[in-house]
Amino acid sequence: MVVLGIESTAHTASVGLVDDDARVLALASSMHRPDHGGIHPREAANHHVEVLPELVRKALADAKVRSREIDAVAFAQGPGLGPCLRAGATVARILSMAWKRPLVPVNHCVAHVEIARVLSGLPDPILLYASGGNTQVIAYARGRYRVLGETLDIGIGNFLDKLWIQFGGKFPGGPDLEREALEGRELHPLPYSVHGMDVAFSGIMTAALALRARGVPRPDLAYSVEVTAYAMLTEITERALAHLKGTGVVLGGGVACNERLRGMVRAMVEGRGGTMYAPPRSLCVDNGAMIAWTGLLAHRTGVSVPVAGSAVEPRQRTDLVETPWRVEGPSPAGSAAPPAPLAEPG
Ligand code: AMP
Ligand code: MG
Repeated sequence: MVVLGIESTAHTASVGLVDDDARVLALASSMHRPDHGGIHPREAANHHVEVLPELVRKALADAKVRSREIDAVAFAQGPGLGPCLRAGATVARILSMAWKRPLVPVNHCVAHVEIARVLSGLPDPILLYASGGNTQVIAYARGRYRVLGETLDIGIGNFLDKLWIQFGGKFPGGPDLEREALEGRELHPLPYSVHGMDVAFSGIMTAALALRARGVPRPDLAYSVEVTAYAMLTEITERALAHLKGTGVVLGGGVACNERLRGMVRAMVEGRGGTMYAPPRSLCVDNGAMIAWTGLLAHRTGVSVPVAGSAVEPRQRTDLVETPWRVEGPSPAGSAAPPAPLAEPG
């Protein structure tokens, strides 16, 4: 079985082809990089509309797969930026109709977990998902993937990008900030904001900009910001691990490319006798292969949507997404209702 997956939730348009053995047959991606400032949803969507047809062509050519060998077309349904999601969904609908193949909706966050899960071989890992727009600790519990903790303000990647732009750099800031941090020598105390299982970054942003205005060298600030922010993420991941008595942690999202973050999480997990796995960078960042793989899992359990019912869901909640491929033991089909999400407070 071969599934084509389309990712377009934010700045990256990507097409992946994946087979039953989770082999990535092709991955063609293009990231929208604005000349200045951050991401404008409509400009990013225009970029995706422009590049997606060529990415589809390239992925098929690279994999030497013909369109009639594709078994299903998967797309990221949410969460993400509305105009960007619609660009990818439109291309997926057209391919599904042209090729007469099922259209499979995929939750972007679940896709980050599933690609890391299959690559790691860990049966039930906790995901630390650290990307531009998202910062979450996700685990499978009581029949659903659930967000156990998350950012209370902005995603860690957006935070790093904004800070770097304020420092005079360009988007995306994370990789440049990482290089700069390697030159840092002095650790400046910054607000450490962990609230239970949640984190917040705006305090670090304000404090770091104030220190910069007072002449603190940029490398020292980059170093201090990384150490503080990644320690916060490591702490909430450790708390999830302890509560769930878990033994495995996987990483996902662009910020999970960061060596310092990888090292800190690895030290924490291994210190507890567990296993940490970080996918290769091309599969950490937003990519079509994770959408294709999760689409393949869903397709194998009979999930598909008609074109008319394939609306995108910019605010799709992870714990409302059914994951029938993870149901263990005898199939609950026809017997039990699908597991209900945990009650909302209030
Ligand atoms: P994503 O939204 O998952 O595609 O990831 C994009 C985000 O990852 C951007 O905010 C980047 O600045 C950030 N990023 C990419 N590489 C690194 C890195 N090496 N260290 C920190 N952040 C990074
Ligand atoms: Mg992502």
